[in-house]
Amino acid sequence: MKTAAADAPAPQSQPALSLPVSALGAVSKTILAQLERLGIFTVRDLVRHYPTRYDDLTSVTRIADLGSAPDGEVNVSGVITQFRHVRLRGRIRSKSTALVEDGSGQLQAIWFGRPYLGGQLAAGMRVFVRGRVERTLSGPVMTVSVHRTMPRDGAFEGELVPVYPLTAGLPNRTLRRLIAKALALVLRDDASAGELDPLPASVSARRRFRESRFALRAIHAPSSEAQADEARRRLIFEEFFLLAASTALRRAALQAETAPDFRSVATAEARAQVLQTFERLLPFTLTGAQRRAVDDLYGDMTRTSPMNRLLQGDVGSGKTAVAAAAMLLASHAQCQSAFMAPTEVLAMQQFQKLSALLSAAGLRIALLVGGLARSTRLDIIDRLRHGDLDAVVGTHALITADVAFANLGLVIIDEQHRFGVLQRAALRAKAHGHTPHTLVMTATPIPRTLAQSVYADLDVSIIDELPPGRRPVKTFVRPEQKKDQIFSFVREQVAKGRQAYVVCPAIEESERAIHSAQEQAKRLRAEAFAGLRVALLHGQMTGNEKDEVMRLFADGFIQVLISTTVIEVGMDVPNATVMVVLDAHVFGLAQLHQLRGRVGRGEAQSYCILVSSGEDRRRLDVLAKTNDGFEVAEADLRLRGAGDVGGIRQHGGDDFKLAHLLRDFAVFVEAKKAALAVVAADPGLRAPEHRGLATYLADIDRFSAIRASS
Ligand code: ADP
Ligand code: MG
Repeated sequence: MKTAAADAPAPQSQPALSLPVSALGAVSKTILAQLERLGIFTVRDLVRHYPTRYDDLTSVTRIADLGSAPDGEVNVSGVITQFRHVRLRGRIRSKSTALVEDGSGQLQAIWFGRPYLGGQLAAGMRVFVRGRVERTLSGPVMTVSVHRTMPRDGAFEGELVPVYPLTAGLPNRTLRRLIAKALALVLRDDASAGELDPLPASVSARRRFRESRFALRAIHAPSSEAQADEARRRLIFEEFFLLAASTALRRAALQAETAPDFRSVATAEARAQVLQTFERLLPFTLTGAQRRAVDDLYGDMTRTSPMNRLLQGDVGSGKTAVAAAAMLLASHAQCQSAFMAPTEVLAMQQFQKLSALLSAAGLRIALLVGGLARSTRLDIIDRLRHGDLDAVVGTHALITADVAFANLGLVIIDEQHRFGVLQRAALRAKAHGHTPHTLVMTATPIPRTLAQSVYADLDVSIIDELPPGRRPVKTFVRPEQKKDQIFSFVREQVAKGRQAYVVCPAIEESERAIHSAQEQAKRLRAEAFAGLRVALLHGQMTGNEKDEVMRLFADGFIQVLISTTVIEVGMDVPNATVMVVLDAHVFGLAQLHQLRGRVGRGEAQSYCILVSSGEDRRRLDVLAKTNDGFEVAEADLRLRGAGDVGGIRQHGGDDFKLAHLLRDFAVFVEAKKAALAVVAADPGLRAPEHRGLATYLADIDRFSAIRASS
């Protein structure tokens, strides 16, 4: 006979997987903070922090044969015949020297900055050492990167030592120790057993993957490269599977929500009429691509489930006009719109454009940014709440607690990669009784072939056509030595009344041999740009300082702006015609394309000059050859991999660690198919087979809040 008690699940302890890292014990606050910088909060995150490569300690070279060893690091094992440890002043703090003898010869091994070695090594010990060897007059000298002490007569057992992605201050050996501890805990934890594997058994069986335990052990401590490869194959599939499953679930959840009531404009005639009204307001004719995008939006907005659409269009392709068309439709449906931009200056500029268009159609529209007088702010909030405003344009100020809407029906997010998932959700949450339509806009192109697959929970519209009459920016790649000529070209442009940007990769001087904005500002003011109005802009300035500088530049007062990449999205100044990027090789192609998009916004011919003497500057030629953001994105992706493709990071909730979207695209397609099938069959993920997947996704959600803000 069954009793109620037998039916109830056995009381379970919390699975080790979901424990915070601190539960491992003996982890200092400093280390916890460093781990958080790597996105590691839980034991699960630790075991999912995969090595990028392995140091091969499996083969040992005889000291006598070192002469013939190829360049790079080599392994030696032998007995220490002499050991010396000295403390030093300054940064290195200590130097340890050992003479190591292996029967074939003698080698001098050196360690710098390992103060604890004094108590660890001594003459007579057997050691394994790995490092780079230099031949000197007194014999071979090795700078040791890895060592192990060995039992007196035990033979050395080889191993592949994992090398992990690190963050400043956190050495690989610390991370290795923590991950090994986490892995051991998880592998022996019964409560974790059912949740360890995000792949349903049927999915991994079809692909003949070995079990999850194997993959995790083998990726962190493989006995051979082949074993690591096998593990990697499964884990790459997992990464894609998780991304596809989480986006499919989010999409399903959104489709189940209620859209604002747009019935009054739902007929084809009503929509056509609004569009006609809109086109009469415009000082230009919509391009074909803009019209298609508006069609997509109007279609979405008149359905019963909320719109969730991404509008992709290169800089200058005219996304604002498309957004305005959507806002007009919303107002005809008696709904309010909120337009959120990443900076005050950008919000102000968008407000000017939008209100010029929409006021003419009778819309009441206001600007809500941080810097407003208190009374103005309160007045705007009051009018929003009572429905006396039809639209509002603003910054983060829009999502503060006291902002409320009478009937929010449309949310537009400009330059979406600057906002986290949470900020978008916060704005959406200001509607009541329904979920507003959402449009996110981005100028960061994702190659056409990938966009639809990656943004599985978003519909995508692409504006792939620039308004007529635009002059493409002329782009040049120039070596360092040409800087004088480049700066005198900038002076010529300024003499013609134009403005210029000079972008540096760093804010302040450092050991890295790259240009810093502070140093350049000082130098250029004194030399090349003496007598010009030059300003400095970087991310360590306060919000107010930045806004002030950007406004002075937008007003045309500042002639040359020396800046870091903070200007990437913040600026729309048609009179700026020159973009100089110093140390251009430091940047990704897509980022350079964004920077280039700051010029070429007016009638005059614009120029982008990429200055670099870096070794890999050939790749910059892609930019000199094309102005098409999609081509640039395609090239960038080929060169750099997928982790950084705009938007994917925030989007999946979890980054790709091993997967490479282009290289592994076939795997991606397969994993997505499998994930969609699982979600379609069991949308609540209630089947026991889906427990691992369900808890994995829940953990991602639980920690995405912290991740998004860090
Ligand atoms: P982005 O896509 O970068 O946000 P904007 O919406 O700011 O581009 O538009 C860039 C410029 O192009 C604006 O000055 C805008 O008025 C103009 N523009 C937009 N659409 C057209 C069009 N169809 N024909 C001519 N000019 C246009
Ligand atoms: Mg724009």
